[in-house]
Amino acid sequence: MPVRTHRTVLRRAAAGCVAALTLALACACGPGSGGSGQAVGTPAAGPSGSASAGATPSGAASTGAAGSGAAGATPSGSASSTSSSPSGPATGSASAPAPGTPSGGTTGTPAPGQPSGNQAPATTAAAPRPAPDAPGTSVVYRTASGAAGGKTVALTFDDGPGPYTGQILDLLDQYHAKATFCEIGPQASANPALVKRIVADGNRLCDHTVHHPQPMHTLPLDKQTYEITAAKDMITRAGGPGTQVSWFRAPGGDFSTANRQIAVQDGLRPLGWTVDTRDWARPGVDQILANAKSELKPGGIILMHDGGGDRSQSVAALAQLLPWLVQQGYTFDFPAS
Ligand SMILES: [Zn+2]
Repeated sequence: MPVRTHRTVLRRAAAGCVAALTLALACACGPGSGGSGQAVGTPAAGPSGSASAGATPSGAASTGAAGSGAAGATPSGSASSTSSSPSGPATGSASAPAPGTPSGGTTGTPAPGQPSGNQAPATTAAAPRPAPDAPGTSVVYRTASGAAGGKTVALTFDDGPGPYTGQILDLLDQYHAKATFCEIGPQASANPALVKRIVADGNRLCDHTVHHPQPMHTLPLDKQTYEITAAKDMITRAGGPGTQVSWFRAPGGDFSTANRQIAVQDGLRPLGWTVDTRDWARPGVDQILANAKSELKPGGIILMHDGGGDRSQSVAALAQLLPWLVQQGYTFDFPAS
């Protein structure tokens, strides 16, 4: 999806987050709001296939969303949203990673087609981390089988588990669909039965930090490390022996060189999305559906929320989205890992 669009989306997201933040962890944000501008994610307009973490030059915050992914490049829907860009909080803007920040800035400039590479090693200097740009640190923006060209989709739900997770699991079961749940550590600790059911139903888990910090990339490295590793531990403990947590999704899609590396070292693949339903903003069921339908392409990853506040609209939208996906010939897949 075009970067611009993204930005807009991000701004909106930010707005939503701010609102949602009342509840502390809550922020629904999947959407990139965080503002980090770090654009790790989106390949500039291009499809580069994957997810590279490269950022868009513009510094923009293209974070999470868009990737190219299998879905091919630019997700269409996008353009449309551009216009409406709300003035929301400036999130994005600021983004440009402060010079000093470890992760931040560097991400920026990969040639459109280039894979994650980017970060200038120099910047990472102080960090006690291993080689920058270790393989596999790029953000995933497509389904596992997406590269093969199948008509697949990966559903992802953020900020839970919580009061709406059970209804979402019921719907998934009804359509024999599987999804990936990006969980907040303490939420998992507080709802171990839900985590166990998620896994028992054949769904998968993703680490969405302990406190949902936004922006995340400006935190000291030790704090970023804690956010990721402690959340993984909480989710794993809640799920019980053998529980696997396979991905890490930065709050608001605020991926940085640093947090991607921390995640990978902890066995987690950074996970983005290509379709932001913006359900976190509770725009109404019809709008959530319209967002999903207009932006989705085969191999895409849909972002929705099962936590972070009142998710009744998300549940109602999912009840209509699932049959639509089936009717369109989509099969449910997990993100690439
Ligand atoms: Zn979130």
